[in-house]
Amino acid sequence: ALTAGIVGLPNVGKSTLFNAITQAGAESANYPFCTIDPNVGIVEVPDSRLRKLTELVQPKKTVPTAFEFTDIAGIVKGASKGEGLGNKFLSHIRQVDAICQVVRCFSDDNITHVSGKVDPIDDIEVINLELILADLESVDKRVDRVGKMAKQKDKDAMFEHEILSMLKEAFEAEKPARTVEFTEEQMKVVKSLHLLTIKPVLYVANVSEDEVANPSDNEYVKKVREYAANENAEVIVICAKIEEEIAELEGEEKEMFLSELGIAESGLDQLISASYKLLGLATYFTAGVQEVRAWTFRNGMKAPQCAGIIHTDFERGFIRAEIVSYDDLLAAGSHNAAKEAGKVRLEGKEYVVQDGDVIHFRFNV
Ligand code: GDP
Repeated sequence: ALTAGIVGLPNVGKSTLFNAITQAGAESANYPFCTIDPNVGIVEVPDSRLRKLTELVQPKKTVPTAFEFTDIAGIVKGASKGEGLGNKFLSHIRQVDAICQVVRCFSDDNITHVSGKVDPIDDIEVINLELILADLESVDKRVDRVGKMAKQKDKDAMFEHEILSMLKEAFEAEKPARTVEFTEEQMKVVKSLHLLTIKPVLYVANVSEDEVANPSDNEYVKKVREYAANENAEVIVICAKIEEEIAELEGEEKEMFLSELGIAESGLDQLISASYKLLGLATYFTAGVQEVRAWTFRNGMKAPQCAGIIHTDFERGFIRAEIVSYDDLLAAGSHNAAKEAGKVRLEGKEYVVQDGDVIHFRFNV
């Protein structure tokens, strides 16, 4: 499964946020294929469509889809030189698919800041620089190898050498790889380098309790937003401390608490949705009387691959998929009505599944 890693300097609220994640934790019996690891938190992906489908189909059971966050502790200045848990930290980041960086935007004199003052941009740059330096090292190593072959006019080597030069130039200007524009062909080579700074990034601005309803009043948040816009990253605002409390609540209680706070969606739910999008993930549904269920797939996946997410046998024996979009199903009011209205389609192997498709797979065993 794809996972987003939570990183941040000490005392910014990482553990508080990760506690909220594990507190809110998904019913693990439903997700036997998920990772069991104290550093991995599994959460349900909030999706209002699932509730509507449940009302419509009245199944015995409803199962949301899940998403994994990995807690990556141990970043300090100098990590790329092996300071602190440096190397371990970098190898953990290498394994995640996206990075959620918690940034301290709350002032609290009782809580020390590692560098003595609250300065979110400085914090972001400390971490980014460590990742950039680690990538620069990887690229330099690669240049040594490819450079010689490029001199002998080896076509592939020359192609890669040019990409490496573009990357090196960015890194030397302290810019992450994700800010460099590559063609599709170049991107294939870039991916093979397994760089840290090519991974999508989400900044999680952690504000104080009294600011979470109006985060735009917070000067730090403004700065983080400007910074992120310049480097192709996203921002969400949360109050980690409140998230810990929200995570203990469910249903109506949760909604009441949120409306008292003046926020529409909990920070954790925003974090889940944003990470999901960041990774290019989407949801399809299966809706039978036994079970209504949401499934995560990657944008661009075709019907047989999506069937394989449920069970490998479904992919191997795939015949066809009977599909109705969520909107059409809801408008029709029932599966039969949707069928009569001609909204249920039979799709084959080449069909690219869309977010919100309600699917019944037909397969041979
Ligand atoms: P970590 O080192 O990044 O894991 O930081 P922690 O989660 O341990 O938080 C460090 C301190 O900041 C703890 O005392 C938290 O209670 C406090 N803290 C975390 N988030 C908030 C917040 O949103 N508001 C305030 N006032 N304090 C917070």
